[in-house]
Amino acid sequence: MPISGKNSVKEINIDNNLKNLIDKAQKVYFENFNGDAWLGRCIFLSWYCALGDCDFCFRSTQKHKIQHPATARRTYESIYTEAFLCKVNNWKLEFLTGGYGIFEFDDIVKICKTISEIFGEKIWVNLGTLSKPQFEKLLPYINGYVASVETLEPILHKKVAPSKPMAPYEKSLNVAKELGLKTSITIVLGLGEPIDDYKYVKEFIKKHELSRITYYALRPVKGTPYENGPDPEFVAKWITKTRIDFPKIEIIVGTAETRLPEISLLLRSGANAITKIPATKIYGTTGAEDIHNLIKSADRNFISELRKLPDVNWSKEVNKVIKDKILAEKIISKIKDYEKNRLNKSYKEFSKIKKLEKDKCEPCGE
Ligand code: SF4
Repeated sequence: MPISGKNSVKEINIDNNLKNLIDKAQKVYFENFNGDAWLGRCIFLSWYCALGDCDFCFRSTQKHKIQHPATARRTYESIYTEAFLCKVNNWKLEFLTGGYGIFEFDDIVKICKTISEIFGEKIWVNLGTLSKPQFEKLLPYINGYVASVETLEPILHKKVAPSKPMAPYEKSLNVAKELGLKTSITIVLGLGEPIDDYKYVKEFIKKHELSRITYYALRPVKGTPYENGPDPEFVAKWITKTRIDFPKIEIIVGTAETRLPEISLLLRSGANAITKIPATKIYGTTGAEDIHNLIKSADRNFISELRKLPDVNWSKEVNKVIKDKILAEKIISKIKDYEKNRLNKSYKEFSKIKKLEKDKCEPCGE
């Protein structure tokens, strides 16, 4: 299938070993899940991180450091607008993250409450390490805790994430579990780890009885030591192994706008969902159409929407949850702006392209 836009995946080569793993993982997946796939979405509370020294992260680059943290704080209307857009398009909230050191913890609790009301369900959070009293404050609104451990091989971990020692994360995972929350970790692939390092992940999932894992394909950022992301086949191997060893775990895989051709392979390898797609940017474009088609070609049912905004009475939808009239107005106006200038606009452009394509003489396409 021709893929629109920039594309860093030139080819995908599946050798016999990987093919066998995929076949096995597919079988395990369909024995345990119904074939639904979705777009996962992380909602960020701020663009600032107090640590800022993970060596693969754009926050570690000089360009990012010169920005003042105060400008990195998102407004409430911006955060809630994103949540409403996620809800109506069924982009599932992977977790709420960021904001540490920017918002007071009680404000974070209030935001969790509102976001869980927007989604009509409890949410997952990825807010760094948390103490028991902090978890207890969040408990009415959350059902899962994510620890961004990045990598689990001890030497690599020290190099990659020097300010994120493992012990406090393990402690937070234990407290979360004790309080009845589901738990998850995020792992970045492409940091130089061999496939053999999967053993650390396997051990960790068993030890903490995780119910979810997210694998992110590294996105190389200028100014960091990394120039290339991992091959799709390498990411697929990690997913197949995880699926085979842990049939019921939820696997989310972070791909990218520039890696779309791998989506079908990653789902066939046993992932439940994809994430890290810039949804509002790609919405209604040929790239969005590609994503829907790639998911279908993996025999999966895409339950999220990226092509056409459903018809929503925003005033009713927003006022149902947001009782502060001024805030509700701000959100509605932001959503309408998105609708008019981004989402529906690109849909109209996309429809025009589709019409032009249809009008073309079929055999040669000219
Ligand atoms: S990876 Fe996360 S913790 Fe590390 S610098 Fe980036 S935002 Fe901060």
